Amino acid sequence: MKKRFKLALPWQILIGITLGAIFGIFAHEYVDYVKWLGDLFLRGLKMVVIPLVFSALIMGVSSIGESKDLGRIAGKTFLYYIITTALASTLGLLLVNIFKPGVGVDLKLSETVTEISSTKISFVDQLLGIVPENIVKAMADGNMLPIIFFAIMFGYFITVSKDKTRIQLTDLFNGIYEVMIKLTFLVIRFAPIGLFGVVAGVVGAQAGDTEALATLFGSLGIYAAIIGGGCIFHGVATLPALFAALTRKNPFKFMKQVSPGLLTSFATASSAASLPINLEDIHVKTGVSRKIASFCLPLGNTVNMNGTALFESVTAIFVAQAYGIDLTIAQQIIIVLTSLLAAVGTAGIPLAGLVMLAVVLNAVGLPLEGIGLVLVVQQPLDMIRSAVNVWGDCTGAAVVAHSEGENLNL
Ligand code: ASP
Repeated sequence: MKKRFKLALPWQILIGITLGAIFGIFAHEYVDYVKWLGDLFLRGLKMVVIPLVFSALIMGVSSIGESKDLGRIAGKTFLYYIITTALASTLGLLLVNIFKPGVGVDLKLSETVTEISSTKISFVDQLLGIVPENIVKAMADGNMLPIIFFAIMFGYFITVSKDKTRIQLTDLFNGIYEVMIKLTFLVIRFAPIGLFGVVAGVVGAQAGDTEALATLFGSLGIYAAIIGGGCIFHGVATLPALFAALTRKNPFKFMKQVSPGLLTSFATASSAASLPINLEDIHVKTGVSRKIASFCLPLGNTVNMNGTALFESVTAIFVAQAYGIDLTIAQQIIIVLTSLLAAVGTAGIPLAGLVMLAVVLNAVGLPLEGIGLVLVVQQPLDMIRSAVNVWGDCTGAAVVAHSEGENLNL
């Protein structure tokens, strides 16, 4: 059998992005011929987002009920995940407000926004809007917050249903999730070509205007540094400090124990890829029981994404700055809350956070075209945030295990 040489996806994506940028600069009169590749890719991402999030959440929430004594553990796990995700998202918010990377970027995008829709909607209306009047309509409109809310409720009530119903529905949604992951992978496979089209379009629209191009790259550089730096700070300062405070153990020794998983998620830009490795390492090396590891890690893989939450909040505000929109405090709070929920709904696969960006932008009425703006720097950011996402899950599992009286080998 002949063995074909296959380049790993992250490299293909990097090549696609580079070629797209080169095409956009040197052949910008022809970008219309390739821009549709990017549009097709974005359509594919939008196609999978709703069923993917819906099934992932129902699966994650309903898995809690599989064993009776998990109720208490679930409570602690959720609390830890919510607090760390909120810390990450808030850190992002602070940084992006201090450095303001998007201010002054000349977008030349087709959509111009003079006033964003949610300025007309009060904060109370926003909160009320989380509860859908009509779940089918929310899905048709791609309105994610009510969808997430409904999925969490639905998942919860699966756990308190009769055995037969519970098993049937858990199987059903696990199955749907499995299929959706496969479908999403197909779309992601197309990412190198799709990103080529997107980047060619974005760069091409700026080409010829070197000043605008320089501003775009400069701002994107600061934007990327904020996310990269923020994720690293969260990973080596915030989480370790919290870990040390809660367990009185050495967080960096623990980091070393789970480093194969962290590196795997970094290289593949996917938290899911590291799950099998971490489930083993955290039990064998750290001494977390199988019961806690197999609950906290898979759940965290779906719902706990510190890096992604930071990415979502920074990006939404960056896009607002680039469109010259001043966000009120209430809107910024909505962005943080939505980032939390979006991170919960993000699947642990490459670029899933980018799909969910649509949710956050949508929540405050920012144009979805903003996604195209930040695509250029996605690959490295996706790698960093995936590793931080997984690190958050691991610390969560160890903290919960410690609180349950387990002896950690640290
Ligand atoms: N790739 C990330 C992960 O797997 C998700 C994201 O795109 O933010 O954790």
